[in-house]
Amino acid sequence: MDTSDSTVSFTTAPGFCPDCGSILPLLGDQGGVTCYSCRRTWNAEVFGDMAISYNIHFNDLNAYSTSMQKDDEDDEADGPVVDRRCPQCQNDKMSYATLQLRSADEGQTVFYTCTKCKFKETENS
Ligand SMILES: [Zn+2]
Ligand SMILES: [Zn+2]
Repeated sequence: MDTSDSTVSFTTAPGFCPDCGSILPLLGDQGGVTCYSCRRTWNAEVFGDMAISYNIHFNDLNAYSTSMQKDDEDDEADGPVVDRRCPQCQNDKMSYATLQLRSADEGQTVFYTCTKCKFKETENS
Protein backbone atom coordinates (compact mmCIF):
# COMPACT_ATOMS: atom_id res chain seq x y z
CA MET A 1 0.00 0.00 0.00
CA ASP A 2 1.34 3.41 -0.92
CA THR A 3 -0.40 6.50 0.42
CA SER A 4 2.49 8.90 -0.09
CA ASP A 5 1.12 10.34 -3.36
CA SER A 6 -2.01 11.80 -1.82
CA THR A 7 -0.05 13.18 1.12
CA VAL A 8 2.50 14.95 -1.04
CA SER A 9 -0.09 16.57 -3.27
CA PHE A 10 -1.51 18.45 -0.31
CA THR A 11 1.77 19.59 1.20
CA THR A 12 3.63 20.80 -1.88
CA ALA A 13 2.62 23.86 -3.87
CA PRO A 14 1.76 23.02 -7.47
CA GLY A 15 2.98 24.88 -10.52
CA PHE A 16 0.80 26.37 -13.20
CA CYS A 17 0.48 25.21 -16.78
CA PRO A 18 2.38 27.69 -18.99
CA ASP A 19 -0.08 26.97 -21.78
CA CYS A 20 -3.53 27.28 -20.24
CA GLY A 21 -2.77 28.57 -16.75
CA SER A 22 -4.36 25.67 -14.95
CA ILE A 23 -2.84 24.43 -11.75
CA LEU A 24 -0.65 21.48 -12.55
CA PRO A 25 -0.53 18.30 -10.54
CA LEU A 26 2.72 17.41 -8.85
CA LEU A 27 5.71 16.18 -10.73
CA GLY A 28 5.55 12.48 -11.34
CA ASP A 29 8.33 10.06 -10.65
CA GLN A 30 9.60 10.54 -14.21
CA GLY A 31 10.09 14.26 -13.60
CA GLY A 32 7.25 15.20 -15.91
CA VAL A 33 3.75 16.45 -15.32
CA THR A 34 0.64 16.39 -17.49
CA CYS A 35 -1.84 19.26 -17.38
CA TYR A 36 -5.33 18.08 -16.50
CA SER A 37 -6.95 20.75 -18.66
CA CYS A 38 -5.02 20.87 -21.92
CA ARG A 39 -3.28 17.52 -21.65
CA ARG A 40 0.12 18.95 -22.41
CA THR A 41 3.04 17.29 -20.71
CA TRP A 42 5.70 19.44 -19.09
CA ASN A 43 9.01 18.55 -17.62
CA ALA A 44 10.43 19.70 -14.30
CA GLU A 45 11.39 23.09 -15.74
CA VAL A 46 7.79 24.19 -15.53
CA PHE A 47 8.43 24.47 -11.82
CA GLY A 48 11.58 26.49 -12.43
CA ASP A 49 9.89 29.87 -12.08
CA MET A 50 8.77 28.95 -8.63
CA ALA A 51 12.26 27.94 -7.59
CA ILE A 52 13.70 31.17 -9.00
CA SER A 53 11.24 33.33 -7.14
CA TYR A 54 12.16 31.57 -3.92
CA ASN A 55 15.83 32.21 -4.61
CA ILE A 56 15.21 35.90 -5.16
CA HIS A 57 13.38 36.02 -1.88
CA PHE A 58 16.30 34.47 -0.04
CA ASN A 59 18.77 36.72 -1.80
CA ASP A 60 16.84 39.75 -0.63
CA LEU A 61 17.11 38.53 2.92
CA ASN A 62 20.84 37.99 2.53
CA ALA A 63 21.32 41.43 1.05
CA TYR A 64 19.45 42.89 3.96
CA SER A 65 21.53 41.15 6.60
CA THR A 66 24.74 41.93 4.71
CA SER A 67 23.96 45.64 4.66
CA MET A 68 23.23 45.45 8.36
CA GLN A 69 26.64 43.95 8.98
CA LYS A 70 28.36 46.74 7.10
CA ASP A 71 27.93 48.95 10.13
CA ASP A 72 30.13 46.51 11.93
CA GLU A 73 33.03 46.13 9.57
CA ASP A 74 35.64 45.29 12.11
CA ASP A 75 34.71 41.69 12.14
CA GLU A 76 33.61 40.75 15.63
CA ALA A 77 34.35 44.11 17.17
CA ASP A 78 31.26 45.40 18.85
CA GLY A 79 31.76 49.13 18.60
CA PRO A 80 33.81 51.92 17.05
CA VAL A 81 37.53 51.28 16.99
CA VAL A 82 40.04 53.55 18.68
CA ASP A 83 43.81 53.64 18.84
CA ARG A 84 44.46 51.94 22.10
CA ARG A 85 47.14 49.43 22.86
CA CYS A 86 45.99 46.08 24.01
CA PRO A 87 47.91 45.17 27.18
CA GLN A 88 47.79 41.54 26.27
CA CYS A 89 48.86 41.27 22.62
CA GLN A 90 50.14 44.82 21.95
CA ASN A 91 47.67 45.26 19.12
CA ASP A 92 46.97 48.98 18.87
CA LYS A 93 43.32 48.83 17.94
CA MET A 94 40.51 48.29 20.37
CA SER A 95 36.84 48.74 19.93
CA TYR A 96 34.85 50.42 22.63
CA ALA A 97 31.36 50.61 23.93
CA THR A 98 30.04 52.84 26.65
CA LEU A 99 27.54 52.00 29.26
CA GLN A 100 25.89 54.38 31.64
CA LEU A 101 25.86 52.79 35.05
CA ARG A 102 23.33 53.74 37.66
CA SER A 103 22.84 57.50 37.76
CA ALA A 104 24.21 60.04 35.31
CA ASP A 105 26.27 61.58 38.11
CA GLU A 106 28.55 58.63 38.25
CA GLY A 107 29.78 58.97 34.71
CA GLN A 108 29.99 56.14 32.29
CA THR A 109 32.01 53.03 31.98
CA VAL A 110 33.86 52.38 28.75
CA PHE A 111 34.40 48.84 27.68
CA TYR A 112 37.36 48.23 25.40
CA THR A 113 37.75 45.06 23.41
CA CYS A 114 40.92 44.20 21.54
CA THR A 115 40.09 43.67 17.88
CA LYS A 116 42.74 40.99 17.68
CA CYS A 117 42.71 38.83 20.79
CA LYS A 118 39.37 39.99 22.24
CA PHE A 119 41.00 41.03 25.47
CA LYS A 120 38.52 43.16 27.40
CA GLU A 121 39.13 45.94 29.82
CA THR A 122 36.95 48.61 31.33
CA GLU A 123 37.63 52.18 32.18
CA ASN A 124 35.54 54.56 34.20
CA SER A 125 35.40 58.09 32.96
ZN1 LIG B 1 -2.68 23.27 -19.54
ZN1 LIG C 1 44.90 41.98 22.17
